[in-house]
Amino acid sequence: MRIRLNLECPRCGGALFMEEDGESVSITCNRCGLRASWKLRDAARRALKNIDGSLIFDWNSVIDELYLELAISIR
Ligand SMILES: [Zn+2]
Repeated sequence: MRIRLNLECPRCGGALFMEEDGESVSITCNRCGLRASWKLRDAARRALKNIDGSLIFDWNSVIDELYLELAISIR
């Protein structure tokens, strides 16, 4: 799975993509290669939410936190 995000790279302003390959989830910049990733099970631990008895994987919170890691890593 590879999704173009509606976010810009905090280092170069390039397009950011989210990739998920069954083992890890990452956000990568196409232009400069800046990247942050988590093991999928770590992401699941943070992102799974129990809503009315159904487990929902909240991708938005994963994207938010990975984006913060990118922003911190360039300082
Ligand atoms: Zn970049």
